[in-house]
Amino acid sequence: MKKVDYIIVGSGLAGILFAEVLIRQNKSFIIIDDASQQSSIVAGGLYNPVVLKRFTEVWKAKEQLEIALPIYQHLEALLQVKLDFKIPVRRLFHSVEEQNNWFIASDKPALSEFISTRIMVNDNQCLNADFGFGEVLQTGRIDTNTLVDAFVKLQISKNQFLKESFDYEALKIVENKIQYKNTEAFHIVFAEGFGLKQNPFFNRLPLNGAKGEFLTIHAPDLKIDYVLKSSIFLIPLGEDLYRVGATYEWEDKSNDITQKAKDELLRKLKAFLQCDFKVVDQVAGIRPTVKDRRPLVGEHSEHKNMYILNGLGTRGVMIAPYVAQKLFDFIENKIPLEKEINSNRFQE
Ligand SMILES: Cc1cc2nc3c(=O)[nH]c(=O)nc-3n(C[C@H](O)[C@H](O)[C@H](O)COP(=O)(O)OP(=O)(O)OC[C@H]3O[C@@H](n4cnc5c(N)ncnc54)[C@H](O)[C@@H]3O)c2cc1C
Repeated sequence: MKKVDYIIVGSGLAGILFAEVLIRQNKSFIIIDDASQQSSIVAGGLYNPVVLKRFTEVWKAKEQLEIALPIYQHLEALLQVKLDFKIPVRRLFHSVEEQNNWFIASDKPALSEFISTRIMVNDNQCLNADFGFGEVLQTGRIDTNTLVDAFVKLQISKNQFLKESFDYEALKIVENKIQYKNTEAFHIVFAEGFGLKQNPFFNRLPLNGAKGEFLTIHAPDLKIDYVLKSSIFLIPLGEDLYRVGATYEWEDKSNDITQKAKDELLRKLKAFLQCDFKVVDQVAGIRPTVKDRRPLVGEHSEHKNMYILNGLGTRGVMIAPYVAQKLFDFIENKIPLEKEINSNRFQE
């Protein structure tokens, strides 16, 4: 029997960021993933402290950024890959009213350090942006695809990764320990994203899931070196490639790409992009969104060594490092979880 401190189910952002805490704290683990969910692989990877629809602060933005950025730096060193691309985000204004609302927002104490008050004039022929842009500060993009890929490869090389669907029926609780096939652990953390729906221990939690699709376009004349936000995001990837998206869809829970999403994204893109481009890729994934838009972090009501780390929603990049640390402190240091994120605010 292999003995570890933790079993983690899911190697998306939630599972990886929890494993990162374990690595720093010298705890042993195995991590299990069957590649059934795509959210962390297809994500835009943006971190941005401002809600660009309403010009308000993202929930706990400052606290989350302070925790997250050094952790991604640690992961870069551990995995020997570049993950954090510092890049400004510019909000395209559609009216004078939006410009005024931007100024008003920049005066709010919680937002002033994140919003530049200067209205930027558009000098790019490819863009239709008569009212200019407002720039958000302290933004960037984490290359989540590279993170997942490099992290999984490292765990495979260390013999602590199982590529399989977690078999919930094979899980046994014996004398306060978890047994799963030939592994014994003190704790198990479920971080399956939308895959939570198959988990008999936690699937009554209100994870609704919001499907999102992205296009990748090749636009050789566009030449922008910032993330542009209009009704959708345009994210430069280098080599004249850009991510365009994403959509929000609440009925379809598959990871399949659709013509409907492609049409919607092209329509929105053409409203502000005036030069030639070619679509070269399309991807889809389910964001693990929760009814009240807060993460699901906590322990099972009956099985005390069974935990959940989920509900990262639309902003996994910023939230994952924060909630991973909170869960670890709860398990190992008995620090109570904030009510707002504790999964016990709902019945399992
Ligand atoms: C189109 C799109 C764009 C996005 N853009 C951004 C963005 O710009 N910035 C941002 O911060 N967030 C963004 N997000 C949200 C972000 O992707 C999520 O918040 C985050 O990735 C969720 O991570 P997770 O680990 O909880 O879930 P997932 O990434 O879904 O990971 C769960 C993992 O568990 C595995 N799994 C599930 N069930 C089982 C099982 N039974 N057995 C074994 N393995 C299992 C899955 O294979 C998967 O690897 C975006 C999401 C989408 C879809």
